[in-house]
Formats: sequence, C-alpha cells, structure tokens
Amino acid sequence: TDTTLVADVSAMLRDVPDFPKPGIVFKDITPVLADPRLFGRVINAMAAPFRGQHITKVVGVEARGFLLGAPIALALHAGFVPARKPGKLPYKSVVEKYSLEYGADGLEMHEDALHKGERVLIVDDVLATGGTAEATSRLVKKLGGELVGYSFLIHLAFLDGVKRLGPDKVTSLLSF
Ligand code: AMP
Repeated sequence: TDTTLVADVSAMLRDVPDFPKPGIVFKDITPVLADPRLFGRVINAMAAPFRGQHITKVVGVEARGFLLGAPIALALHAGFVPARKPGKLPYKSVVEKYSLEYGADGLEMHEDALHKGERVLIVDDVLATGGTAEATSRLVKKLGGELVGYSFLIHLAFLDGVKRLGPDKVTSLLSF
C-alpha cells in the first residue's frame, strides 16, 4: 500500500476560498493532475477498492470526474461513460434533475450507454452534498446498470453527502 499518498495529495491540493461563490472553499485538484507520479498513484488508489469486482463501466461526472474516471476505467479494464450537463451529449439521452442550494441542475447519459446488468462504478473528484452523485446513480439505474459503488478523491464529510448514497460502497482518499 501507498502509505504516504494521503499526505502527498494533501500537500498538493489547493484550497481556493470563495470560488465559484462566497463561502465555498474550492478544492483545486489541478496540481495533483499535473504531477505524473502523483496522478498515477491517485488513480491506482481510487481504483484499488474495486479491483476484482468485475466493474464493466466507469461513469465519470462532468467535468473533473472525466479526468479521474477515464484512467480509473482503464486501470479496471472497464469502459468509460460520461455523465454530462444537459444539452452536451450528441445522441439520444436520458436526464435526471437534481436540486442545488439555489435552483436546479441536471445530468444526462446516452440512452444506450449501459447494457442491462452492467456493473458500474461512479467517479468524481469531490463528494459534497451528494446531490450530483445521487442523480448519477438514478441515471445508472434508469439505464439498467447495477451500481457497485462510488470512488471520490475528496469527501467533504461535514456536508453528510454520504447519507444520500444509500447502501452502496462509497470510498474516498481524503476526508475533510
Ligand atoms: P454535490 O452535488 O454537492 O455533492 O457536489 C459535488 C459536485 O460539485 C462535484 O462534481 C464536485 O466537483 C463539485 N464540488 C462541490 N463542492 C466542491 C468543492 N468544495 N471543491 C471542488 N468541487 C466541488
């Protein structure tokens, strides 16, 4: 196991106060992605809990979930599927709406992105309130996928988002 990984990632993460709006401390992962050794160790650690679990598709959430989800998919010998903001996917799509602190948003996947019974892992950089991940899980189930779990780089534990994700396996490298 990679015993210094948590400390090494913590040292490289950049906290940006009041982005994108006042009161939010944005966890900027770009310095982690820019370091090839550290990026590789992060991908390996985020994939590790799901090795041997016969994951067939990794669903990455726009946009930073793409950056982590695609290499995790390759590490698990699985395919990659993007979950995107409405209006971005070119083909016929299914949508799930979810509520934000102010207003609502949505996520879409192509209607043929999953075969029935495919074993799915959802990946994103940050688990905050859980609304985004929960909407993604509804999309996966709508398309007939079997949700195996979630892999996040960072869990903002004080927001209790894990409560919204039900009994599925939720893993994260760092917790604040
Ligand atoms: P939520 O739906 O509240 O769990 O928010 C998760 C989504 O918002 C993820 O796609 C994250 O990338 C993004 N996000 C939420 N909070 C933060 C934060 N403090 N820093 C960076 N990204 C965040």
